[in-house]
Amino acid sequence: MTAVTFVQVTKDWGSTIALHPTDLHLQAGQFSVLLGPSGCGKTTTLRLIAGLETPSAGQISIFGSDVTTTPPALRGVSMVFQNYALFPHLSVAENIVFGLRVRRVAASEIAERLKKTLDQLSLAPYQDRKPGQLSGGQQQRVALARALVADSRLCLMDEPLSNLDAQLRLEMRHELRALQIKLGLSVVYVTHDQTEAMSMADRVVLLKDGRVEQVATPFELYQAPGTLFAAQFIGTSRMNILKLEGARIAGTAIRLEPPAGASCVGIRPEDVVLDGPYVLPVSHSEFTGADLLVHVRAGDQTIVLRAQGKQVVNAHTQLALGWDARHLHWFDHKGLRI
Ligand code: ATP
Repeated sequence: MTAVTFVQVTKDWGSTIALHPTDLHLQAGQFSVLLGPSGCGKTTTLRLIAGLETPSAGQISIFGSDVTTTPPALRGVSMVFQNYALFPHLSVAENIVFGLRVRRVAASEIAERLKKTLDQLSLAPYQDRKPGQLSGGQQQRVALARALVADSRLCLMDEPLSNLDAQLRLEMRHELRALQIKLGLSVVYVTHDQTEAMSMADRVVLLKDGRVEQVATPFELYQAPGTLFAAQFIGTSRMNILKLEGARIAGTAIRLEPPAGASCVGIRPEDVVLDGPYVLPVSHSEFTGADLLVHVRAGDQTIVLRAQGKQVVNAHTQLALGWDARHLHWFDHKGLRI
């Protein structure tokens, strides 16, 4: 079952094109992440699904029903935003059921759903507190509870964890993902943080300049990036991209065996090993604790390699390094994977 389908959906504001004609299929019961740099169209895509924006062209379906012209309230989706948008004067419980009261759901049903949601999110002990008396993580959980209590089939989240400190963010990632799996929720989640996307998603939709760059599992995206952009956007230390001159790395004597049409080669820092036939000078190294990132010069290009942080490598020394040819990624002059 498909939770969300876009058929040639476009969104522009005059000359600003937020989304070029886009086809998209997001599966039900999955955690789908819209990922990309600032301004690439993530929030616009989410708002189009929610019905908060109207597409300039194309068709949007949710669970198989065409909702292109359906108002937000009738789409059966719930949203969680970055700023939790909780009412400060209402208690946790009142915040959670606010939407149900507005929709005049019967009191007995409200009570039942509230109890279930408080239990699911371990919020029962806090139900009488005001949002101001909660930690950031607890407030985030209340915002989530408000989305879950509506029993909507699709939950949309726009950078919901970005106001939390690093440690709490990590905990909430696990918590959110565990809850999504337990309840079988269909989630569409916006983030610009590739680590967050990689650690939470069933599928990542990588966007760039209003276009889908690649849709893939985190594993596929990392192991077989479809474009140069995907190759460099994903990964905590960026993939090395080296220009080719015929079969050689430009400016060096290092010969490779590129497939026809390759104009550059990519290799991840962790795939460069401190043992091999290529002797290159070290320009500098960065110690990050667990890792040592060593920058070596290859002609006028740089290769970064990731070694264990248990050693010291001095600048201006020479290193013999190498790689397994199976770990090389080839790209053509358009930046497409070969
Ligand atoms: P961020 O991570 O910074 O939130 P984003 O990927 O979510 O970025 P969008 O908010 O979807 O990006 O914006 C995509 C493009 O559309 C941007 O160039 C933005 O300036 C433009 N845009 C968004 N909303 C409007 C609007 N109401 N009117 C005009 N242009 C808009």
